[in-house]
Amino acid sequence: MTLSSTLYDRVRTVIPAIEWPVFADDIEAILDLKRQRNAVILAHNYQTPEIFHCVADIVGDSLALAHKAMTVEADIIVLAGVHFMAETAKLLNPQKTVLIPDLRAGCSLADSITAEDIRLLRQRYPGVPVVTYVNTSAEVKAESDICCTSGNAKAVVESLGVPQVIMLPDEYLAQNIAAQTEVQIISWKGHCEVHERFTPADIRQLREDHPGVTVLAHPECPPEVVAEADFSGSTAAMSDYVGRQKPPRVMLMTECSMSDNIAVEHPEVEFIRPCNLCPHMKRITLANIRTALEQNRHVVTIEPEIAGRARLAVERMLAV
Ligand code: SF4
Repeated sequence: MTLSSTLYDRVRTVIPAIEWPVFADDIEAILDLKRQRNAVILAHNYQTPEIFHCVADIVGDSLALAHKAMTVEADIIVLAGVHFMAETAKLLNPQKTVLIPDLRAGCSLADSITAEDIRLLRQRYPGVPVVTYVNTSAEVKAESDICCTSGNAKAVVESLGVPQVIMLPDEYLAQNIAAQTEVQIISWKGHCEVHERFTPADIRQLREDHPGVTVLAHPECPPEVVAEADFSGSTAAMSDYVGRQKPPRVMLMTECSMSDNIAVEHPEVEFIRPCNLCPHMKRITLANIRTALEQNRHVVTIEPEIAGRARLAVERMLAV
């Protein structure tokens, strides 16, 4: 059995055989380049299955990638995800070369707020701590007291022991966490362009079309969507839920590749897939991962003074 056919076995339920030859050459080249250059690939749960299952060394949600980035010993980290994730890896393991295969892989949440916005918020709400979602630039993290992800946001907010926090930039995540805690939350107007598009009417229609379906919603979805779902949690929590509960039919209100990646591990579960694509995540391809390793691009750099302050906010989160 060739390497290519062994790898194809992992993804045959989600990648048609006719498409595989398009990927096989890049996959073999990337595996070689990783060995030659002593590199590892960290891939977010929203990466396509040929990246997630065939070339990635470490996979997970933002929180898991941040934790694991700290312990990477290889010389090079290629971040198959979006720019803020590559910056977080660089913050946590500054000696390593961190590459992002496409500099345009951004995020509507990260783009919704600037460091200056936070300075103005601090003037308006003196003494109120700022909790910043990791989906932000290093400059924004540097102005923050502590970071959070969708997986630990409630724990982070409550860890501060204060009656009120500013939580930004995701308005819906802030509202969804506010519904679970006594802490009063001041939010910002940022939205994820993927999750904001789901509606309660989508869920009702799905339940009608697919009786018995279990609906899982990411907390970046609007609160009224989360309220109609059977469970809400980060991508890691959704993955755990499917593994633990093994619902016969499930629908993930999140980015499309998430269902494909989990479906590979749970062939017994039927995934209903009216999902939304993240155009930023989809900028990362096998071809540009290969080029990143061949040409050492694009190297992620962060101005040292900003990096120092941003690192503190991320490290405080990891300590919670
Ligand atoms: S899915 Fe939403 S939060 Fe995640 S990178 Fe895309 S735009 Fe940003």
